[in-house]
Amino acid sequence: MRILIFLLTILLSANNAQSIETTNLKIFANDDFKTIPVRVYIVKADKSHNLNAEISHNEAVNVFNIVNIIWRQAGIHFEIESIVNLQASNEDQYIAARKRKDRKMKVMRDVCDIPKQSKGVLNLCVVGQMSNNSGGVSFKSTKPKVVWPIALRNGKKPLNPATLAHEFGHFLGLPHNTEKDIFLMRGSGNNMLRNKQFNTIQLTESEIVKARKMAIKLFH
Ligand SMILES: [Zn+2]
Repeated sequence: MRILIFLLTILLSANNAQSIETTNLKIFANDDFKTIPVRVYIVKADKSHNLNAEISHNEAVNVFNIVNIIWRQAGIHFEIESIVNLQASNEDQYIAARKRKDRKMKVMRDVCDIPKQSKGVLNLCVVGQMSNNSGGVSFKSTKPKVVWPIALRNGKKPLNPATLAHEFGHFLGLPHNTEKDIFLMRGSGNNMLRNKQFNTIQLTESEIVKARKMAIKLFH
């Protein structure tokens, strides 16, 4: 009897451990997945190589694959609707903002002057580097919606999909939280730490509920 109880205890605790590990992998049925079509604008710049986005279609697809690994736990899928080149606007403004280390994001909105706001898609503007070297920005009511740089302050090309997944979170109405670093919506400055830990990045339960509501409101 004692042995049986002992075995049961082991069995139960093993079960427990498993359920803790898989809490994050909330599985949504295919029918429950919300798809968000994304029009990807790749910025081409003449005057500033910092602004020019050198990213191939394959690289963009790979970035989205990882973004979708992160967002799977919320049953949300970001789908590339199309990839188009976009000639940068207001390049001089961008160059000046970099020089004076302006923290404001407005200049990035002016750089990505998408001619006509497309309904039914999330407009993503991909640039080389942000004017203030940040990891991206999501504009609430003005075009384009999300601006994401392929490189951060060191000028290398980390192509960190976690920063894009984070900005998509803002787009879906999520503010920063004060959870541990591995949470996607933890405040700025931590996204680089989440690079290559894509399987373990987490959203909170309430963030999942909120993001799904927004996805349905905007796209369904
Ligand atoms: Zn943020």
